[in-house]
Amino acid sequence: MPMTYDELKDLLRKQEQELKAQLESLDSGVHEMGVGYSNHMADAGTEVFEQARNVGIRQQLARSLADAQRALQKFGDGTYGICESCGGIIDLPRLEAVPAARYCLRCQTRLQNSR
Ligand SMILES: [Zn+2]
Repeated sequence: MPMTYDELKDLLRKQEQELKAQLESLDSGVHEMGVGYSNHMADAGTEVFEQARNVGIRQQLARSLADAQRALQKFGDGTYGICESCGGIIDLPRLEAVPAARYCLRCQTRLQNSR
């Protein structure tokens, strides 16, 4: 049975909460780690690596969170499920796979290829 927009909205709300929680735990983790006060070079190297990795994860989480929030905003605007590029309806199976999708599959493909 296909999902309804209401169910997709719930899904996005849950995603938003989870992403926020993950970002918060990541931030507190980075704080506890401290910056560069290690006695061992190997540890220092690991810490730098860990921090670089966390920054990457953090950026990814922040981007996903922004996507989810933008999608939720669209529910308020009544534009959810409408492609931002061509104004067409985004297929429901695509929204089920990617609830925060901004473009229909055709536009997404076109945008990716033109990069
Ligand atoms: Zn489109």
